[in-house]
Amino acid sequence: MLIDGKAVAAELRAQLRRSVERLMAERGIRPGLALLLVGDNPASQVYVRSKAKACQEVGFLSVVERLPAETPQQTVLEYIRRWNQSPEIHGILVQLPLPRHIEEQEVLLAIDPRKDVDGFHPENVGRLVLGLPGFVPCTPAGILELLRRYVGPLAGKHVVVVGRSNIVGKPVANLLFQKTPDANAVVTICHTGARDLVPFTRQADVLIVAMGVAGAIGAEHVKEGAVVIDVGINRVVDPATGKERLVGDVRFEEVFPKVSAITPVPGGVGPMTIAMLLWNTYRAATGELWSDR
Ligand code: NDP
Repeated sequence: MLIDGKAVAAELRAQLRRSVERLMAERGIRPGLALLLVGDNPASQVYVRSKAKACQEVGFLSVVERLPAETPQQTVLEYIRRWNQSPEIHGILVQLPLPRHIEEQEVLLAIDPRKDVDGFHPENVGRLVLGLPGFVPCTPAGILELLRRYVGPLAGKHVVVVGRSNIVGKPVANLLFQKTPDANAVVTICHTGARDLVPFTRQADVLIVAMGVAGAIGAEHVKEGAVVIDVGINRVVDPATGKERLVGDVRFEEVFPKVSAITPVPGGVGPMTIAMLLWNTYRAATGELWSDR
């Protein structure tokens, strides 16, 4: 079975569009997302464009600031302070990676945790680890939503995550082992410290791959009937056409016949990431997550 992230994301956006109409009619609130891009990384430009377009589609206000690569950190922090104060802006997203002279952690710390719709502020990271309400990073939240719909209860299933980055590996592992009805999985995390991935990945009922290495995972890594979530997005040149195309970390053609379900690249996790960003921004606008403050 193919896990169709594109279709699920479209359904979520349609739902969200209706929720936004209600929110505007009942409370006069239009969710607003501020997007900040520093520098001219081509992939980041594509992501920011897609995020702004998705905002328009669901009826959000979106503000996009594109700053040159040499922008001083102070200027970036000024933008964030202004948006922290703005009643029209409910979510703030700083597209990563930032140029080297800007300290990523300083910038993330400056974002009001109630507007941190990427879920990267240490307060939200801490909330996720502690099992408290907060913003969950978008890619892990999107993965959980796909698993909920296509796999069902994860309780007791063995999930193996390959990758321990702060934006995918660590938060997805933290999300899936929480003692909550939609998680409660047994989670193993692999990284380059593993001499051989095969003995770990072959035990997985659900294998989540976030390595950033094109085609690193093949049939030998997966158990018959497993579910595979391929987070990787890698640009490679197709030798047949000479053109660039996107591929995952998993050798799809080889793995597909062996598994019970798998996400394609593109069209799997990618669209879900943006859909969850929109949901986080909607929740920031309603204030529902932070009612305890
Ligand atoms: P990082 O480069 O930050 O992390 C990669 C992780 O994979 C590291 O923890 C690294 O281990 C581990 N790893 C790499 N090679 C191996 C190996 N041979 N064996 C075991 N572990 C390995 O990447 P990200 O987490 O940011 O992203 C991963 C991929 O997901 C990328 O292709 C990225 O483009 C994509 N992505 C897709 C998103 C989407 O929306 N679909 C969103 C975010 C990312 P170590 O820590 O030891 O170095």
